[in-house]
Amino acid sequence: MNDRSVPTYHNLINGEWVPAASGELFENRNPANSDDLIGRFAKSSRVDAERAIAAAARAYEHWRLVPAPKRADILYRAAQLLVERKERLARDMTREMGKVLEEARGDVQEAIDMAYFMAGEGRRQHGQTAPSELRDKFAMSIRQPIGVCGIITPWNFPMAIPSWKILPALICGDTVVLKPATLTPLSAWNFVTVLEEAGLPPGVLNLVTGGGADVGNALLESPVVSVVSFTGSTEVGRTVSTAAAPTFKKVHLEMGGKNIIVVMDDADLELAVDGCVWGGFGTTGQRCTAASRVAVHRRVYRDFVDRYVGRVRTLTVGDGLDPSVQMGPSVSRGQLETVMHYVGVGKAEGATLAAGGHALDKGAYAKGFFHEPTVFTDVHPQMRIAQEEIFGPVVSVIPFESFDEAVAIANGVEYGLSASIYTRDINLAFRAMRDLHTGLFYVNAPTIGAEIHLPFGGTKNTGNGHREAGEAALDVFSEWKSIYVDFSGRLQRAQIDTE
Ligand code: NAD
Repeated sequence: MNDRSVPTYHNLINGEWVPAASGELFENRNPANSDDLIGRFAKSSRVDAERAIAAAARAYEHWRLVPAPKRADILYRAAQLLVERKERLARDMTREMGKVLEEARGDVQEAIDMAYFMAGEGRRQHGQTAPSELRDKFAMSIRQPIGVCGIITPWNFPMAIPSWKILPALICGDTVVLKPATLTPLSAWNFVTVLEEAGLPPGVLNLVTGGGADVGNALLESPVVSVVSFTGSTEVGRTVSTAAAPTFKKVHLEMGGKNIIVVMDDADLELAVDGCVWGGFGTTGQRCTAASRVAVHRRVYRDFVDRYVGRVRTLTVGDGLDPSVQMGPSVSRGQLETVMHYVGVGKAEGATLAAGGHALDKGAYAKGFFHEPTVFTDVHPQMRIAQEEIFGPVVSVIPFESFDEAVAIANGVEYGLSASIYTRDINLAFRAMRDLHTGLFYVNAPTIGAEIHLPFGGTKNTGNGHREAGEAALDVFSEWKSIYVDFSGRLQRAQIDTE
């Protein structure tokens, strides 16, 4: 592609596509081939974010009064447009983010599913009615919109995660300023464009691309923004939480993970191997729910390791647009360097490097950020590679002697997003379900693969108690109002009058 054919993408503020106030741009390149310049995007700053916040605040005054089923009509149309464009949007995603095309299709599909689901909420959003303790008095609770939502998203699910946040916000009657990850602005742009075309009024959804500190801080500090919904690393989540605190806004945080698959001695080992390969190396290990730890009962440890390592070595690495490829590149040079750093840490800690361990930089790999799928075995649960989120194709296999030890290993990390057990023993499955302290749990399936109509989120340093997706998402983007209607025609005092 010659330079002139590289498109420029602007911000969306108040229904208009406008360049950053500074006129500056940043580049979006393909992580499988850094010569492939996908586009230039607005490099925005605080002033752009503040304009978008002001537009969202103005739009809120009429959007909150649009009946929810009418808001839903726009979401249904958006879902249809996403269905029609799925293939193109998935290709754009693979090109900017690197995940294999099949997974990029899945990412777009999540946005489609969420659009239909949240459109359905346009006719639900149920409140409660309850009897009053007083005569001739009616009591109910309803959901109310909150106002302007600042939404900050990561690069690993570049359409799905914005959809998990934007769609419930819109159906609740809120307005939005989206700041997507700088590595994947095109998928955010594509998603916002679809919602625009589906008929959102100006200012209801605004897109401001640019750096976390430049754009993000304006959202966090603004007294006009009532909700911040952030998905990203625990480290940045902590600064988000602190920066948002003085204005008392609602802060929804979805952060890092160090997820585990527990393989018991009675497990179907082939099934467990399938799950551990997919859970560990799907999306190049760049899922918050990635199975980056696998704990295996000593009785089947050798057998499992042989089969698992054998399978991992056969994975085909390459450009995700090539249908024969099973694992794409890391998203950026920085992410690849993190992977390489942790491989060094694992070796220095004395874990056994059983598969992979090297960056791939020759031939077809020369212009991308590729790394071999990597397995460390004989890992001690306290090693850094078993404690810290790597966010790449590196899995630590940890032996254990008993179910109780496996539970202790599983819970012995700072994160609490996803866990799984492979066993045929129903009693152990239920004990694990109860005792593993995570927001997601799977039996005889890997740690990845959440469906959009159930709550999604984690415990401990993964989250701050909120959940996204499912009906639970409405709790982030609305607040409850309790209403009492007294039709007695006289003063009645709760807790005091007895008749
Ligand atoms: P990141 O924390 O670096 O960035 C996330 C977003 O925050 C980006 O849009 C970034 O520009 C922005 N940001 C950075 N600094 C900021 C600041 N000071 N103020 C405001 N915004 C700022 O994360 P990432 O590298 O994009 O994504 C990977 C991380 O996301 C991993 O830790 C992964 O576990 C996590 N993640 C969690 C979930 C979940 O649901 N729990 C889902 C996906 C990814």
